[in-house]
Amino acid sequence: DSVANQIAAGEVVQRPASAVKELIENSIDAGASAIKLIIKDAGKSLIQVIDDGCGMSATDSRMSFERHATSKIRKAEDLFAIRTMGFRGEALASIAAVAQVELKTRRHEDEIGTQLIIEGSEVKSQEACSCSAGTSFAAKNLFFNIPARRNFLKSNPVEMRHIIDEFQRVALAHPSVFFSLHHDGQEVFHLPKGTLKQRIVHIFGNSYNERLVPMEEQTDIISIKGFIGKPENAKKTRGEQFFFVNNRFIKDAYLNHAVATAYEELLPNDSYPFYVLFINIDPIHIDINVHPTKTEIKFDNEKVIYAIIRSAVKRSLGQYNI
Ligand code: ADP
Ligand code: MG
Repeated sequence: DSVANQIAAGEVVQRPASAVKELIENSIDAGASAIKLIIKDAGKSLIQVIDDGCGMSATDSRMSFERHATSKIRKAEDLFAIRTMGFRGEALASIAAVAQVELKTRRHEDEIGTQLIIEGSEVKSQEACSCSAGTSFAAKNLFFNIPARRNFLKSNPVEMRHIIDEFQRVALAHPSVFFSLHHDGQEVFHLPKGTLKQRIVHIFGNSYNERLVPMEEQTDIISIKGFIGKPENAKKTRGEQFFFVNNRFIKDAYLNHAVATAYEELLPNDSYPFYVLFINIDPIHIDINVHPTKTEIKFDNEKVIYAIIRSAVKRSLGQYNI
């Protein structure tokens, strides 16, 4: 059972960044208005997420580590229809199976909170504690009990890059939530609440103030909102390109291509424009892969969506045509 448990955990937690994603999404789901992420050693020794969300009762905090115990939705098909990020009830059970976990949580209406210590799925202690309202979740020494997995982790810069990617995706999708990221005692990101544009500028730098072209498009099938980079702002990297569907980050080479070809006349073929685009679509038009770590989806009318995105980008760029 312990082996089966570890295998299941490996599906959800592949590296520190996957734990980071699950934990900050839980904080969003808990209605947090401030989320602090503390990382040590690129997540290998510590991943801690502190939020001011709804917190949990003593019973619920214990329950939250049971596999498939979710307070949220049960039907995976509804993934893109539901409002919460989580729905499988797998993340906390999985993280606790492969790390040393310390949870402190208190509901706003309670005076006393709960502290829970779990190591490799084993509950070591549960005590009442005084703590601030909300939840602090610390996962220490990831894969401490699976040396092969721990050895398989990449260098700190590589693991940290993955963590920052996940952090930025959630932060971009929730500009009205305060986020900070601390790595080895240094604050790497400090993102005050604000508009999407302000969030982009806080993440990528002040120069983006001048570089962003707003985009807004409404059709029968989808609506698109966000910002694209001015043509002169093109970079030869793929890093700063974000698509969100119903507020979830997705990777979609086909849609990336739709944007790239819209820039075609303005940019050389081998450059990649900056963009942060939010697509809203009725979930009946998308087919999702429910694998916990997959960020890919399929549109049933993808050619139409491709054409809409391409022409919308072109229209927004219209003023830059020579
Ligand atoms: P899921 O998010 O799919 O429901 P998780 O394993 O991520 O599953 O979390 C299990 C449950 O624990 C959640 O449904 C939620 O009720 C509770 N929970 C987890 N993190 C938090 C948090 N930061 N604040 C409040 N409740 C939380
Ligand atoms: Mg979750």
